[in-house]
Amino acid sequence: MSKRDYYDVLGVSKGASKDEIKKAYRKLSKKYHPDINKEADADEKFKEVKEAYEVLSDDQKRAHYDQFGHTDPNQGFGGGDFGGGFGGFEDIFNTFFGGGGGRRRDPNAPRQGADLQYTMTLSFEEAVFGKETTIEVPREETCDTCKGSGAKPGTKVDTCGHCHGSGQLNVEQNTPFGRIVNRRVCPYCSGTGKEIKEKCKTCAGSGSVKKRQKINVKVPAGVDDGQQLRVAGKGEPGVNGGPAGDLYIVFHIRSHEFFERDGDDIYCEMPITFVQTALGDEIEVPTVHGKVKLKIPAGTQTGTRFRLKGKGVPNVRGYGTGDQHVIVKVVTPTKLTEKQKQLLREFADVSGQSPLGDHEESFFSKVKRAFKGE
Ligand SMILES: [Zn+2]
Ligand SMILES: [Zn+2]
Repeated sequence: MSKRDYYDVLGVSKGASKDEIKKAYRKLSKKYHPDINKEADADEKFKEVKEAYEVLSDDQKRAHYDQFGHTDPNQGFGGGDFGGGFGGFEDIFNTFFGGGGGRRRDPNAPRQGADLQYTMTLSFEEAVFGKETTIEVPREETCDTCKGSGAKPGTKVDTCGHCHGSGQLNVEQNTPFGRIVNRRVCPYCSGTGKEIKEKCKTCAGSGSVKKRQKINVKVPAGVDDGQQLRVAGKGEPGVNGGPAGDLYIVFHIRSHEFFERDGDDIYCEMPITFVQTALGDEIEVPTVHGKVKLKIPAGTQTGTRFRLKGKGVPNVRGYGTGDQHVIVKVVTPTKLTEKQKQLLREFADVSGQSPLGDHEESFFSKVKRAFKGE
């Protein structure tokens, strides 16, 4: 399979800044998130985007990619040393879910178990503050009855007589290009290289049973949509004594009706009256950290943005806390009493030809000039 250029995947130029890359990634990972996008290839695209971002957001990997492209054999992904223990945090996607790969293998060699993926949906606030929870993840576990052999306890396990224990059979085929030999998984032993005379009743000879494992998860404060937590060793168990795979918890964060999040910053719009903007006021603004007072200076224009420092999202890696940005929007009243109408008419009368201050006047003259220019 030929891989697409990472820059093309994210739709950015080769000289794109880190910010541009981050923005493109945010947009695309949201678009293709398997929880949101139900198109058949969304999952593939999601992984592709994650992979491209993992490389392009890392200076070292990006430089490496710019130099060698996809062809460099040393360009490895996934795994990595994230502390090994429980809860190593990683906001990239391991592209090799399921592990394994197409390598020819000795059926008796120890193999690492497959990785598992679990999607955890969080509320806006849970993502901001983190939480501790227990999840139940179904996984194949070694059958206790037969200790994974698949044979009824006390019975003998023989070497498969068809593949002589290799787990593979050579199949010769005539093709237009001549006679070729294909190696196939032995259908008699399903590649295990063993022949079980009497199957274990608990697992029907498979050597594993599906169990729900309970896992305590500490969701770090500040996780963002699409980020993931790697829980080492909580994937499928290994085969022939190999290590267990890992569990990847992918976070999906519900949107909030009032707050919107961009990285560690939170945005919101506050409705405000014409009188408040004209005369100035002090308003109360909700933040995830509680109510905050905000001074609106007299003469504030609609669309003005105010910053509430440190009222955003704690950085997931512990680098401070983001801000909350409040954008004030003047709401024009739609239902006025007779008295209110009368007062506004008086206001217009008193204001005469120039109802507004100098600043606004110049704005209105610009509009006038624009009409003349037509
Ligand atoms: Zn069993
Ligand atoms: Zn066999």
